[in-house]
Amino acid sequence: MTGRPERLFPLFAGLETLPGVGPKTARLLANLHVATPKDLLLTLPTGGVDRTPVASIRDAALPGVVTVTVIVGRHLPPASRNRPYRIEVEDARTTFQVVYFRGAPDVHARLLPTGQRRILSGKVELYDGVAQMPHPDHVLAEGEALPAFEPVYPLTTGITSRVMARAVAGALERVPGLEEWIDPGLMAERNWPAFAEALHGAHHPQEARDLTPGAPSRERLAYDELFAHQLTLALARSSERRRRGIATEGDGRLRRKVLDGLPFAPTAAQKRAIDEIAQDMGMPRRMNRLLQGDVGSGKTLVALMALLTAVEAGGQGVLMAPTEILARQHAEGLRPLAEAAGVVLELLTGRDKGRERQAKLDALSQGRINILVGTHAVFQRDVVFADLRLAVIDEQHRFGVRQRMLLGEKNRATDVLVMTATPIPRSLALTQYGDMDLSVLDEKPPGRTPVTTATVPVSRMDDVVAKLRTAVAEGRQAYWVCPLVEESEVVDTTSAEERFRSLCAALGEGIVGLVHGQMPPADKDAAMADFVAGRTSVLVATTVIEVGVNVPNASIMVIERAETFGLAQLHQLRGRVGRGAAASTCLLMYKAPLGETAEARLRILRESEDGFRISEEDLALRGAGDVIGTAQSGLPRFRIADLERQTGLMALASSDARALLSADPEMNGPRGQAARMLLWLTEQDRALRLLSVG
Ligand code: ADP
Ligand code: MG
Repeated sequence: MTGRPERLFPLFAGLETLPGVGPKTARLLANLHVATPKDLLLTLPTGGVDRTPVASIRDAALPGVVTVTVIVGRHLPPASRNRPYRIEVEDARTTFQVVYFRGAPDVHARLLPTGQRRILSGKVELYDGVAQMPHPDHVLAEGEALPAFEPVYPLTTGITSRVMARAVAGALERVPGLEEWIDPGLMAERNWPAFAEALHGAHHPQEARDLTPGAPSRERLAYDELFAHQLTLALARSSERRRRGIATEGDGRLRRKVLDGLPFAPTAAQKRAIDEIAQDMGMPRRMNRLLQGDVGSGKTLVALMALLTAVEAGGQGVLMAPTEILARQHAEGLRPLAEAAGVVLELLTGRDKGRERQAKLDALSQGRINILVGTHAVFQRDVVFADLRLAVIDEQHRFGVRQRMLLGEKNRATDVLVMTATPIPRSLALTQYGDMDLSVLDEKPPGRTPVTTATVPVSRMDDVVAKLRTAVAEGRQAYWVCPLVEESEVVDTTSAEERFRSLCAALGEGIVGLVHGQMPPADKDAAMADFVAGRTSVLVATTVIEVGVNVPNASIMVIERAETFGLAQLHQLRGRVGRGAAASTCLLMYKAPLGETAEARLRILRESEDGFRISEEDLALRGAGDVIGTAQSGLPRFRIADLERQTGLMALASSDARALLSADPEMNGPRGQAARMLLWLTEQDRALRLLSVG
């Protein structure tokens, strides 16, 4: 990575080089995430005060901020210590008082000498029928001017708006003229100003409207941020795609065999996704694709078709699940299908040890296993494939981006398909997975019964248990999910164990099973197996059953303390029922009283089963970081762009970034060079590294 262009040096200099900024102010600015003049420029005003002058305070609505020219009258020093210092002033039509509760009298006297003309700006209020302006914001001599609309900055202790304004003014003077990186057509269509002009405009709002996200200056700067981010992802994507891969083309033989054996036909969405993936795998480059689909949309079948394609081509495939339970379930579900087509499918988890494990590894490295299903265990160094063509990662959010990279290191040519059941909103999908190609299952298989969702206060626990007893007597099965009391598995475990005991007491021995993350693996398996086989009717669980578990006969989902769960998580949990023919119910138990947001969230769930809608609402209620889980999301922090409200802008930035790179992959053309400058400005180091390695 060659160094930062010299033209940008002044914007990356120390903050102390700005007017009015000393070491102390610089330190305080760090609290606003401001480390350089550039950061300061991207810290926009959050509000503004109208300081348009009026002839008299009588022309203004009181109480309110007024800017008015006055003649200073008598000074009325306080009669006693704790009374205020007052100064009479006269504007064009009336008199009022300037009031100081603090400060030295001689300072007031110097600021407002009797008989002089001054411009005052500050809040005027009526006190006992007398108008007064306590502590004016501004006192100016005649001839000095105030901006008619004064920006208000996000402040931190020790930093006043005035300090901010002065430092920003200094930083603005340093903005060099830069070539335009935004498409000219888009600029014209949106009425966006050039970069330097936009900065100037955003820091000098003329009216309240200039502070809204849609104001041209602010919108342009938001777009710059999104565009820089999307350029990084697009560069990552195109460098991935340039990597050599293997063209994996099957003859369709195995896929046809499996499809013919199924009691149903794939949905149109599944067919589309299967084709997209097969086509991508057939290209001599590396596939990096996301399969997005709501719970129950049938992602597993799509994955299987892709894995079979790898096998048809003489290679191997691996399917990775986030938990032991899921890996096991995938293996058990897929093995009969695979075997019917003469394909060898094996399971590898952390539980495989010693000689058995070694036998599996040998079979794998000799190509005697066609499809491997497993957990993180498949990442281990000694797991060697004869010819790995495709890795499918189920429920990606549990693995995180880092593992995706790890996998890349295991076999650089392997095609990657990531499946996510969290239907994240499009803007977030672009943010998090903008470097991937996307297939979407936007349709559910027919014959699903809708799930009736109801909310019940925990105080009605007895009713719920009584209903459960009736349902169990009718042969129905239920999940009972225990509260996520803390982010501590130990605490959750205790509450699950307690609930297990109380339900055993209420419903009878042998009817209730228990599964949680702290149990020995064999016990977990046994509990799951009992429930799947119908030997137990109720399964008490922590969120370990959140993803993927498929027991079609289960038609009741009880979630305790639903208000403590995330919306996406509740949707996932509810997705465990409604898989069979029976009408299903989801009971969301909450502890009253519910807060406003919690109530809104539970209402959304009652009203909708559409994962995409739920995720959009979730985003609106919670904010972007939370929807994905900030810690592992790797979501960028945007200073100006608002991910929640500017989703269209993100989509635009994404397609524009891809278009720029397809026209100018090395970013050497005029617009490409200009956009490089944007990458430097926004410190997109990853993009710059990718560009420098070519
Ligand atoms: P998810 O997308 O949540 O992983 P699954 O792949 O587990 O969904 O599918 C959920 C259920 O739907 C499974 O029981 C599966 O056999 C069934 N299924 C998948 N595709 C279809 C289809 N086209 N028609 C009917 N049922 C289907
Ligand atoms: Mg699944």
